Amino acid sequence: MNCLGIESTAHTFGIAVVSDKEKILSNEKEVFTTSSGGMIPNKVAEHHKRVCDSVLKKALEKANVKIEEIGLISYSHGPGLSPALVVGKDFAKSLALNHKKNIIGVNHCIAHLTIGTLVTPAKDPVYLYVSGVNTQVIALAGGKFRIFGETLDIGLGNALDKFGREAGLGFPAGPVIEKLALEGKYIELPYTVKGMDVSFAGLVTKTKQLLEKGEKVEDLCYSIQETCFAMLAEVSERAMAHCEKNELLLIGGVGANKRLIEMLEKMCSERNAKFYSVPLEYAGDQAAMIAWQGILEFNAGKRISEIDIYPYERVDDVDVIWQQSKLEL
Ligand code: AMP
Ligand code: MG
Repeated sequence: MNCLGIESTAHTFGIAVVSDKEKILSNEKEVFTTSSGGMIPNKVAEHHKRVCDSVLKKALEKANVKIEEIGLISYSHGPGLSPALVVGKDFAKSLALNHKKNIIGVNHCIAHLTIGTLVTPAKDPVYLYVSGVNTQVIALAGGKFRIFGETLDIGLGNALDKFGREAGLGFPAGPVIEKLALEGKYIELPYTVKGMDVSFAGLVTKTKQLLEKGEKVEDLCYSIQETCFAMLAEVSERAMAHCEKNELLLIGGVGANKRLIEMLEKMCSERNAKFYSVPLEYAGDQAAMIAWQGILEFNAGKRISEIDIYPYERVDDVDVIWQQSKLEL
C-alpha cells in the first residue's frame, strides 16, 4: 500500500508518498519564509493554499505513482497553527472524497519520533525533540510517549527566531545564529533548568536588552547557543539516567545545529550511551513522517470517525498501538 502524507502544522507544506514496504518514494515541500517579521498564521495558511496543488503534483511525479495507486491519505491533525492545519486537513479531505481513499489523521510530534527510529539505528531512545514550537524530552514508557521534561514557556526554535527578529536576522533565524556564533565570545545569560524542565523566555528578554546596549550580535549568538544547548544536555542526561535508557535521539528542526549535536555527543560518550541525530532531510518538518505514521496506525487498526484538527494534542494523549520498525536508507 502507498500512503500519501500531508504536513501543514506550521511553516512547511509538504506532501510525500511512502509505501508500507518502508520505502520513501517522494518527500516534497514548500516552506513559508519571510525576511522580516515572524510567522503570521493567516499568511502561512495563504502560502499553503497557494502551493498545495503544485506540491502534490511534484510528490506524485517524483514517486512515479498515480493518485489511483494511493491506498491511504494521512494528514497531520495537530498540534500546530489552526489556520495552517485547516488547509492540510481540507486538502486531505477533498483528495480522500474525490478519489474514494481511506483517510487518517496523525499527531505531528509523534511522527517526528517514529521517523527518527525508522531512519536511525536507535531502538528505544530518550528523544530530545527541539523544533520551533516544541522543546521536550520524551521516552516510551507504559504504552505511551511520556514527556519527562519540557520548556515551561516557548520552544527553543521560537526563542532563536524571536532573538533573530530583534537582531534583524530574518526567519528562520536558527541557521544564521549558528553561523554568526562561530565568530562569537561568551557572555553570561540566564540558565534556567527546573528539574527536567527548561525555560527560554527570560533569556530572550535578556538578549534583547543586551542588543539594545550594543553587545555584538555574534557574541549573543554564541552565548545563546552555549547556554540553551547546555540546558538541553543537562535535562537529556537526567532523563536518560531516570529512564535507564542508553540511547539519545535528537529530532526537530533545531537538531540541524552542529554545535548542539557536538555537545550531546560528548554528554552521551561520557556516560557510554549512544547518540543519534536524524538526517537533515527527516529532522525538520516534512510529510514523509506523516505518511509513515499514517501507515503505522492504519496497519495497527486505527480508523478515524471525524476528519478534524487538534491544535493542542500532546504526545501523551495518544496510545502507542503500533510496533516500531527500521528502514535501510
Ligand atoms: P521545525 O519546527 O522542526 O521545522 O524547526 C524549525 C526551527 O528550527 C526554526 O525555529 C529554526 O530557526 C530552527 N533551526 C533550523 N536550523 C537550525 C540550526 N542550524 N540551528 C538552530 N536552529 C535551527
Ligand atoms: Mg515539527
